[in-house]
Amino acid sequence: MIINNQGIHGQKALDKEGVRFSDEVFYIFDTYRDWKTRHHFRNKYYPTMTCVCTDSNETLLGEDYSHRPCMKDYNKTQMLDEMGSQFCPNGIVSCFDDLKNYSHFDYPIGQCAEQHAANDLLLGLGSRLDIKNDILFGKPIRCVTGEVDVYCQNCKELFDI
Ligand SMILES: [Zn+2]
Repeated sequence: MIINNQGIHGQKALDKEGVRFSDEVFYIFDTYRDWKTRHHFRNKYYPTMTCVCTDSNETLLGEDYSHRPCMKDYNKTQMLDEMGSQFCPNGIVSCFDDLKNYSHFDYPIGQCAEQHAANDLLLGLGSRLDIKNDILFGKPIRCVTGEVDVYCQNCKELFDI
């Protein structure tokens, strides 16, 4: 989701927005579950993580939750190129298996809420950013429990956070 950033300035406010967004995601999924449409989500009722981010000018917010990566979506922005140059030995993500094989943990590169949120932000801006310096992230949150988590190794390397 991409929204205009109205009044969210600084890390503390961004973290607060992250909590609000996480609660919203929980509510949406909880509502779907109440409607007994859980088959839409297979066996996973809720996304694991949520995250928000903004550009260094704080013009837009990218907000998303963790889910399966789509190479086509990441290829609409610079993100697929960034993933290739950061993780793949030949510098290119050539197939979906590359996202799994070169990930530092069980989930493929691109699964994370942070990476989806950054992609949303870049789509909204319609321009390139220095993703290691010009994207500010709120803390990642487990939407079911509200717990603040830590950035994973993939995100740490990709965004230098
Ligand atoms: Zn991550």
